[in-house]
Amino acid sequence: MFFYYSKSINEDLIRGQEGVILVLVLLESLGDMMICERCKTPTTPAQDLYHFVECGLEIVYLRSCKLYLCRTCGAKYPLLPLGDSGFYMAIAEALTSKPYALTGEEFRFLWNYLSLAVRENERLGKLIGFHNRDLFKLNDLSSPEAFIASASAKTNDDVLINALLDDEVRQCVARYIGLNDFSDMKKFEKVVALPVSVDAKLRELVAAIVTDKKFHCQIEFNERDEMTICVEMPR
Ligand SMILES: [Zn+2]
Repeated sequence: MFFYYSKSINEDLIRGQEGVILVLVLLESLGDMMICERCKTPTTPAQDLYHFVECGLEIVYLRSCKLYLCRTCGAKYPLLPLGDSGFYMAIAEALTSKPYALTGEEFRFLWNYLSLAVRENERLGKLIGFHNRDLFKLNDLSSPEAFIASASAKTNDDVLINALLDDEVRQCVARYIGLNDFSDMKKFEKVVALPVSVDAKLRELVAAIVTDKKFHCQIEFNERDEMTICVEMPR
């Protein structure tokens, strides 16, 4: 498993796109001597709880996450298993066990997860009627060096094809959950509660494709009865 340090807070991170590459190179060259980006003092390797807002959800925490800790300002720089599809699968599955309606933000996380998962998950492609899985250009995850080489070698055509395929996946997901197209999905992006039928279909789809149980998640509720997801990170 390969851990990638990241700092960009956007969905590109989930989707393993170009945004994270430079940061990854930085980590490779610094080794254990990472300098805090906020206060420019050296950080130390540690394992701690990490509030994983980069995934696009406020409710996800990584327990015993390997990270670089700045003891001067408290900043944490996590090492994330972005190349491991089981990682996001675990969060997606935990999310769909929520005992009340999914929010628009959670919906957005799930559709992003599904468009990533379809690259590797044949069953998902079949379920939603997406047949062009083999056209996606995948990053080579066999080593950090291979990842950098393959991710930076993408031509403009590759990027365009991936974007077109992404759109198609989203259309397929939209139809599967009973909507006309992706623009209908966008309407729910900000809602506090998804319509019951859409919510149910989405959960059904995620449940049907979960195979990897490597990452264990714990569901907890705070005093306001809000759910949090704690992912146990590998030691
Ligand atoms: Zn600092």
